[in-house]
Amino acid sequence: MPLEQRPVGKLNRAVIFLGPPGSGKGTQAKMLAGKYGVPHLSTGDMLREHIAKGTPLGLKAKPIMDRGELVPDSVVLKMVAERIERPDCSHGFVFDGFPRTVTQAKYLGELLKRQGFQQPTVIHMVIGYLLLIRRLTGRRVCKKCGAIYNIYDRPPKVEGICDLDGDELYQRPDDREEVIKPRLHAYDKLTAPLVSYYRHLGLLYEVDASKSVAEVEQEICQAVASMLGAH
Ligand code: ADP
Ligand code: AMP
Repeated sequence: MPLEQRPVGKLNRAVIFLGPPGSGKGTQAKMLAGKYGVPHLSTGDMLREHIAKGTPLGLKAKPIMDRGELVPDSVVLKMVAERIERPDCSHGFVFDGFPRTVTQAKYLGELLKRQGFQQPTVIHMVIGYLLLIRRLTGRRVCKKCGAIYNIYDRPPKVEGICDLDGDELYQRPDDREEVIKPRLHAYDKLTAPLVSYYRHLGLLYEVDASKSVAEVEQEICQAVASMLGAH
């Protein structure tokens, strides 16, 4: 493994990426998880895996996700509780797209306490909504490895093909313009209240997510490194 890809140290906590759809949570959560050698836990990816496999959970979630609404808390919480009990999560993990409601955040607090983790660190991806439409309609994802591209701003070298493994790129069904609106509405109504929830707990780091990927990455790495240094 090249030196720059080796994990830098122990995270020993949960890091949460909080922000609207398209703000860059997946892009940066993958980076941070790789840097610290911990799992990247995207509840959206987990649900899409259930859909692809045709499990009962997937069958239940699919129409809800296609409408751009949130899957019920009980479904997501069970899925997350099972996942973070696995041994690969013992040195921490990076959440992307979870928690998304105050109920989920409260339950996560209990789960972390029960597993001996300290309070999570929350990265708030701050961005104006005008940029999100371009990011979401332009997003393409590798079917095999989940690498994230953007046809406008971060295109693959060969159109429709993943740079990393040569597999096909696809457009998520909920990245169509008509589904983006309800998704942003769900964010405003149910997820945005988490900003003040975590701010009151003193756990929130604000990052300007409208900057370039490299600049956002730098801000996040500095915030996490300073937070780890402070503990
Ligand atoms: P989220 O997980 O918050 O929905 P993603 O990480 O999937 O967001 O990013 C959404 C889209 O925006 C993708 O097409 C991605 O390539 C692109 N993107 C992510 N971060 C940036 C950035 N800082 N500048 C420009 N485009 C970005
Ligand atoms: P994402 O991949 O994070 O954009 O999520 C895609 C979709 O999955 C969302 O629009 C929701 O329908 C569903 N979803 C993902 N995470 C959650 C969550 N924590 N709570 C409820 N629904 C979720």
